[in-house]
Amino acid sequence: LTAPGQLFEMAEVEVRGTVIRTWKHAPLHFPAVLEASRGHGAKDFVVYEDERLSYEDHYRRAATLARRLAEEYGVAKGDRVAIAMRNLPEWVIAFSAALAAGAVTVPLNAWWTAPELEYGLADSGAKVLIADGERAARLHGSDIAARLIVARADGWDLPPGARLFDEVLGEVAADARPPAVEVGPEDPATIFYTSGTTGRPKGALGSHRNLGQAPMSVAYALARTRARAGADPYGGMGGPRVTLLTVPLFHATGCFAALIPTMFSGGTLVLMHKWDPERALQLIEREKVTAMTGVPTNAWQLLSHPSLDKYDISSLGGVGYGGAPAPPKLLERLNTRLPSRTASNGYGMTETTALAIINSGPDYVAKPDSIGLPVAVCDVKICGPGGEELPPGEVGELCLRGPNVIMGYWNRPAETAETFIDGWVHTGDLARVDEEGFVYVVDRAKDMVIRGGENVYCAEVEAALYEHPAVEEAAVIGVPHEELGEEVGAVVRLAPGASADPDELRAFLRERLAYFKVPTRFWFRDGELPRNPAGKLIKTRLRQEVLGA
Ligand code: AMP
Repeated sequence: LTAPGQLFEMAEVEVRGTVIRTWKHAPLHFPAVLEASRGHGAKDFVVYEDERLSYEDHYRRAATLARRLAEEYGVAKGDRVAIAMRNLPEWVIAFSAALAAGAVTVPLNAWWTAPELEYGLADSGAKVLIADGERAARLHGSDIAARLIVARADGWDLPPGARLFDEVLGEVAADARPPAVEVGPEDPATIFYTSGTTGRPKGALGSHRNLGQAPMSVAYALARTRARAGADPYGGMGGPRVTLLTVPLFHATGCFAALIPTMFSGGTLVLMHKWDPERALQLIEREKVTAMTGVPTNAWQLLSHPSLDKYDISSLGGVGYGGAPAPPKLLERLNTRLPSRTASNGYGMTETTALAIINSGPDYVAKPDSIGLPVAVCDVKICGPGGEELPPGEVGELCLRGPNVIMGYWNRPAETAETFIDGWVHTGDLARVDEEGFVYVVDRAKDMVIRGGENVYCAEVEAALYEHPAVEEAAVIGVPHEELGEEVGAVVRLAPGASADPDELRAFLRERLAYFKVPTRFWFRDGELPRNPAGKLIKTRLRQEVLGA
């Protein structure tokens, strides 16, 4: 079956004795996803508070905004259009419009401070920024002010020169169509910032093919879960899928594991402006949510909430989480508090356009400490220190290959060459595979803390700490935390004669870094920090020293 921009050739994949038909090829670019979405007409696409955006409305607005971007801002194919917003319907419209104009969309982290936002805009070379009022208000004095479009200006003090979203959109015609731009599968589509090992976030450059693959991976995972549970793989897939999004759209998971699959399949996406477990329960009841997508912390807090039994959440058939390690205790709690729900633990990274490996249903119950099997189009290998492939059972670096693996890092050839080798992305995660092909993440080789699903690169926080005059040496470590998985801790040696307390250091960092990167725990140390002969911090020893673990 082929249509412009689409090639739905079916392939059969055998998974442990079960044959699953899947798409061999995905929609080849975003315009194909957008055109497919139009067919869902008056159905609710995005629900936010009391607002409902239908597929038809979304299409018309995105097409109109795409035209305005092209005609009034000169946005042409390959130009970067940044978005800095919390989860709002305008985020979705802006994302679709930028891509429909042929631009590369650059979702920026809404928690970022002014210097971080300025960095993201400069690094991506954004031509236009579409922001919400709160983000826009951070950009007084910025060069972007003249090319700033603001949604939900509310009472915010906007930089002079900014224009309002609705005013730019103007009249939306019933027959609005996007401008005529040709994009191909290998054209760049998105830049998502992921924390960099060198201390600055780096842009993960994804292609239209990567984006088009995302809904296929999710559909395949659903079909496989059903097949493995002994059900018809495609039964129940025709029903309305209402997904509660508990994570930000500016993260790969929110965008590629929730938004794009929803858009393509005609489901409804219920947005949360801010995570709040009680609000989540209310929304599940009100919107008859069928599935929840978020990080393990969201599921954990929902299941632990004292009001869990007060709401009718019988519509909820699946609870999915990923993006951070999920303790087996989470599955246990889910099975006790919400029995008969299908749980799934998805592994992915920004560099794999979100979902790459997933464990769900009966497989997950049988192997609760595994992240499962790769999605249909993704190959897995475990590499030794010399890059050699290791046999099952041995621990090495997890490497992934497939049409979900991104093009590389924006304007960073050295880091791209280091991470993407012969088509394989080197994840920086240490893992093993069992005889049945199930993958187990055992540790992290990269120096990173995952705090409730937000990645914090230690180097970035350390670099900011070193800017404080009283800091002589600093090491940032992950500290186990029951709800968040990990919290950020710092071991600091002060300069001789200098003094600083945790509150002062935190206030200093807060001006430079988004709140989730700022350490909650501090330890002060008298002697030099332990280092190996190459001068690298030995964090395992530090962790043992301060945590006794
Ligand atoms: P990000 O690029 O922000 O999505 O972060 C990707 C990283 O999150 C991976 O390299 C892993 O370290 C971690 N991660 C994602 N999903 C899982 C999971 N299901 N289990 C354990 N770690 C995960």
